[in-house]
Order: sequence, then C-alpha cells, then structure tokens
Amino acid sequence: MNSSIQSATTVVDNTASIRSFHPPVRTLMGPGPSDVNPRVTAAMGAPTIGHLDPAFVGLMDEIKSLLQYAFKTRNRLTIPVSAPGSAGMECCFVNLLEPGDKAIVCQNGVFGGRMKENVERCGATAIMVQDDWGKPVDPQKVEAALKENPGVKLLAFVHAETSTGACSDAKLLTALAHKYGALSLVDSVTGLAGVELDVDGWGIDAIYSGTQKCLSCPPGLSPVSFGERAVEVIKNRKTKVQSWFLDMQLVMAYWAGEGARTYHHTAPVNSMYGLHESLVILREEGLENSWARHAFHHRALAAGVEALGLGFVVAADARLPQLNSITVPEGIQEAEVRKRLLSDYNLEIGAGLGALAGKVWRIGLMGESACKTNVLLCLGALDAVLTDMGAPVNSGKAVAAAQAVYRA
Ligand SMILES: *Cc1c(COP(=O)(O)O)cnc(C)c1O
Repeated sequence: MNSSIQSATTVVDNTASIRSFHPPVRTLMGPGPSDVNPRVTAAMGAPTIGHLDPAFVGLMDEIKSLLQYAFKTRNRLTIPVSAPGSAGMECCFVNLLEPGDKAIVCQNGVFGGRMKENVERCGATAIMVQDDWGKPVDPQKVEAALKENPGVKLLAFVHAETSTGACSDAKLLTALAHKYGALSLVDSVTGLAGVELDVDGWGIDAIYSGTQKCLSCPPGLSPVSFGERAVEVIKNRKTKVQSWFLDMQLVMAYWAGEGARTYHHTAPVNSMYGLHESLVILREEGLENSWARHAFHHRALAAGVEALGLGFVVAADARLPQLNSITVPEGIQEAEVRKRLLSDYNLEIGAGLGALAGKVWRIGLMGESACKTNVLLCLGALDAVLTDMGAPVNSGKAVAAAQAVYRA
C-alpha cells in the first residue's frame, strides 16, 4: 500500500456527526456586532450574481452614493473595502504613508495603539500624543505636537473610541492638522451613523468605518473615503503601496472606473447586498434622525444605570451615546455577570479592554440595538443579576428611571 494513503487513513474523522449550524438568537449590546435588521439578512440571502454583472455594477454605484450620504461627502473615492474595519484602517495608512514619513497618532484607548502599529509597519515614524483612557483627545497636546514636529504628513486619531466610549472633536482636530499642513486620518468605525460626522464640512482627508457598528450590518466590510488632497498624495507616491490588496490605485480601477470596471478581486457580492440594504434603511430614517435616536436611547440607558448606582467612565460631555462604559461594582466578578446575561437573557454586553479589563462593562447602543426594547431588557436584566449576586446596587430602580425618560 502507498504510504501516503496509509497515513491518511490513520487521521481520525470526527466530522460525521457535524450538522448545519443554528446560531442562538441573541440581543447584541456589546461593542459590535450590533443587532442586524431582518431586511439586511434577507437581502444577503438573495441569489448571488457575478461581481462584474451589469446589475451588480449598478448596485456598486448606489452603494457609493449611499456611503457619500452617510459620510456627508462628495468624495469620489468613497467605497467599501472588502474586509472588516481593521482593513479599512490599514488601507488608509498604507496608501497615505511611505517609508521615512512622520505621523502624529493620538492614543486614548485600544485603537490608537493599532494606528501606531500601522504607521510603523509602513516604515514611518509615529509621534504619539497620549491621553488617559476614557478622556477625549486633548487638542492642546495635539497642537503642541504639530508645532514641535514640522513636516508631519498626517494626524491620525479615533473619533469614537470603542474601548472607552469617549468621543473626540474630529472637527477641531482636523482643523488643527490643516493649520500645520498635515492631512487628517480619522477612525470612525463606531462613529458613522451614531454620532455627528461631516466629512466635507469638517474637511477630513481620509476616513474609515465598519459595517457592524452603527450601520447594523454583519461584519466584514469597511467603508472608506479619501478627499482630493489625500488622492493627490496617493497619486504622487514615490514607492508602491506595500499591500497589493489594499492599494487604492488598483482598487480604484474596479470601483471608480465608470463603464470600464476591471477585475481586481471578487467582491463579496452578498455582503454588498446587505450593506446596500442597511444604507437604504439609514436613508429612510435620515442621518440626523439616526444620530438623534442614538442620543435619545443613551439618555434612557444612562438614567437607568445611574439609578442603579453605577457610574460612567467617560464624563457626560464627551460620552458616545452608542458605547457606554460603566463601572463594575466593588467585589463583583464582571465575567460572571456577562455569563448570566448571556445564558439567562440571551443578552451580550462587552467586557473592558486593556487598561479597563475587569473594571468596566461596555454596553453598546449601536444601530438597530439603539431601541427602547433593548434598553429596558438590559437594565432589567442587569438589575436582576446584580441583585441576585448581592452587589451594592439600588435594586428595582433602573427600569423605572429609563421609563421616566421615555414618558417625558
Ligand atoms: C471595531 C473597531 C475597529 C476594527 O473593526 P473590525 O471590523 O473589528 O476589524 C477599529 N476601530 C474602532 C474604533 C473600532 O471600534
């Protein structure tokens, strides 16, 4: 007997009992993914067509227009990268930076640290501006760094820091970047559709987002947008972009070549149906109404959290409505609470990350998850679980406090 066949037969086959996967039905109130509207999952179940089919090309044009609406921009180079938010991040950095460049990176949570990593992998130097976790980026520190480092190519910062729930002033920081001749590169993965964002009005040069936060789509795509100045920088590069897949010059030929789209990679066709539907839903609601809805349900949640006796990590004036970091009461094992919420209520909330691990929970009110049903479920469940565990909380007050906001 052939020895390779012999060895193959000795491999244990444990696949015979595997059946179709049926996920549990959860309520998603963590840092993403958020609850997905059934219209989006239904759209994704439509028949797959070719990624160069004229009907698909029409869909791509509509997605571009709808993303321009969501970002508030006329940037022609506004497309979804065929990969999750982290790829959008990498796409912005690898296209704009070349070896030897300098970039200022603001860090006030997990994602600023990833930006630094990206800058360094481009062969560029990251000049860090640090702020405490839970605080927004301090514009004074940013201005001092810009002053001290002439010739910086770009200023990168996170608009909506999902690891803490802090919202930074993207308009002001972008204006500072421009004052010192730098581009602004903005992470609004969690910001888009959940909180005010005006790419053209604020002059943002490059921005990336994700589908699974306030757009309420399944994960896997990353909308990005590049303004004229960023496009000029990309066109005038001296070196090739280190990533073939994320090279915008190549991707542009597929997305921007009206009437002459050429194959670059096979777009995730059914995921694009889903993104399209989620953007149609956003357009129906209205962008400003979506921001207002997030703020409204945040107010109800915050009233409940405070009535329960728990605190917020972020000061009220810098809080993201869609990401609420709340403090774990003294003596409570935070993981046990999340476990009970999941097993007894099918409710997912997030754990703390990095410096905040074990100390906070992150309650997401993103997209479809920003609704009264979710807020009341979460408060009622948290109250019941914490009370049962003997935590020092004001039992029985949270839901009523939220209801009072809804009735007002
Ligand atoms: C979620 C998130 C990302 C990464 O997105 P993935 O889709 O998980 O790759 C980047 N930045 C911020 C601020 C995020 O919240």
